[in-house]
Amino acid sequence: MSEKENKTSNFIHNIIDADNETGKYGGEVYTRFPPEPNGYLHIGHAKSICLNFSTAEKYNGKCNLRYDDTNPVKEDEEYIDSIEEDVKWLGFQWDKKLWASDYFDKMYEAALELIKKEKAFVCDLDAEEIREYRGTLKEPGKESPYRKRSKEENLKLFEEMKAGKYSDGEKVLRAKIDMASPNINMRDPVIYRIAHVPHHNTKNKWCIYPMYDFAHPIEDAIEGITHSICTLEFEDHRPLYDWFLAEVGWWQTPPRQIEFARLNISKTVMSKRLLKSLVENGDVEGWDDPRMPTIAGLRRRGYTPAAIRDFCERIGVAKSNSTVDIALLEHCVREDLKKTTETRNVVENPLKVIITNYPEDKTEEMEIENNANVPEMGTRKVTFSKELFVDGEDFAEFPVKKYFRLFPGNEVRFKGAYFITCNDVIKNPDGTIKELHCTYDPATRSGSGFDGRKVKGTIHWVDAKNALKIKIRNYDHLMTEGDDGSKKINPDSLREVTAYAETSVANAMPCERYQFFRHGYYIADKIFTSEKEKVFNRIVDLKSSFKIK
Ligand code: ATP
Ligand code: MG
Repeated sequence: MSEKENKTSNFIHNIIDADNETGKYGGEVYTRFPPEPNGYLHIGHAKSICLNFSTAEKYNGKCNLRYDDTNPVKEDEEYIDSIEEDVKWLGFQWDKKLWASDYFDKMYEAALELIKKEKAFVCDLDAEEIREYRGTLKEPGKESPYRKRSKEENLKLFEEMKAGKYSDGEKVLRAKIDMASPNINMRDPVIYRIAHVPHHNTKNKWCIYPMYDFAHPIEDAIEGITHSICTLEFEDHRPLYDWFLAEVGWWQTPPRQIEFARLNISKTVMSKRLLKSLVENGDVEGWDDPRMPTIAGLRRRGYTPAAIRDFCERIGVAKSNSTVDIALLEHCVREDLKKTTETRNVVENPLKVIITNYPEDKTEEMEIENNANVPEMGTRKVTFSKELFVDGEDFAEFPVKKYFRLFPGNEVRFKGAYFITCNDVIKNPDGTIKELHCTYDPATRSGSGFDGRKVKGTIHWVDAKNALKIKIRNYDHLMTEGDDGSKKINPDSLREVTAYAETSVANAMPCERYQFFRHGYYIADKIFTSEKEKVFNRIVDLKSSFKIK
């Protein structure tokens, strides 16, 4: 980790500093990242990953990767593999890899402990009735008629629940707290439910499963987590978190839950459930579709771990929810790529240019810098000859005011080559442009002295003789947003165009990144680059709409 990262602080670090001052955890810092393996991780998870792992690093502590698999849904190997790949790709290494379901025995014992202390009871109300009895924010709840069951009866019934004597929903185990609590979470919450569903890890051993609010603090405490960082919606659950640990009573210095605001980003969505529905509906090509805000999608799109970590750092850690402008994420990747990628000449909507006064069989090698901002990145050779392609955008038959690129009668610089003047526009029978006839001034070759006259436009080009045909996927945001903040799928989030690239692009390896001069940053797609026609994903365009304050 860099010096800079190490020094950054936030309110969570302030809490840890205070705990370290009092010696609460003996100076130890132990965090965890606890994904539920029910989907791919998204950039919101990246924020949590960066926060948990970086916090541990900052204090020379440790961070676990813990799968929160207390819910017996079908395990998906694909999700688990992707989670581990994503965490590592972001540049973090967990201390231990753990499964919450490995603690089922301990959780069961903890529940017995509560029953023995008369802090939990078996309740026969069904889900509907429990909801009715719970009350509202304005009205207190009503106590369950089963609340006064004896300790012995509860132990027997809970044992029977475990043994499979009852069907799903017939009984639950509830904490006995306070049905009049202003905090609804404290109104005798359910802590165990019956579900005759095999679990990927424990198979058919259990037909009762702990509820998240009960399981999570116990998982944290068993692992010796000191600071359990979670998102804001659990703030009202914190009293319950503390209550369970205090009442079970097995831990001297129980972990401390700290909440932060979850990340929301404009023009995309940030929930596994929604992202899953996009995948299942075929709105995108998969979890790693380059439009997806998943880590896998961002990786395929061409984002770098450094850019994502920089983003997570810049947005900071807050105590109130807000939405971050997606332009900031784009700014971060641009900032990284502008220092690290080489430039290549690529033209979209190619227009053929014939240099009428250039010798028929001549080819020159032009030396072009790889990155104008980073001279150490050197130069490469690009051929120049009589027939070239320029970008359709760089020619106007009828130029508007202040158009300084190519138009009939105008002279421009062909980047890294000569001054070129457009003389004639040759049309096809259907009226479309067939080619441009231009002339070059041999005295203006880049790097050589000439009469010093100036041109206002510089455009790029490729040699038609050896240009490489490629496919470019220009991406726009996944979602559009109405003025009221409502989001809809952007029907125009992918535009594929054919383009011509200078020959060196033929050597692009899958996942290699470039700046396509004056177009943006691109990555050779990890899958399609081995095919005959190389496919490049646009990572981000060059222009930023984002204003750094
Ligand atoms: P989702 O609603 O997308 O499924 P989740 O919170 O249910 O999200 P989990 O797998 O349970 O997903 O989350 C693992 C960790 O990541 C949790 O600690 C959670 O708080 C955190 N997390 C999830 N989404 C975000 C987000 N948008 N911003 C910050 N942290 C998040
Ligand atoms: Mg979840």
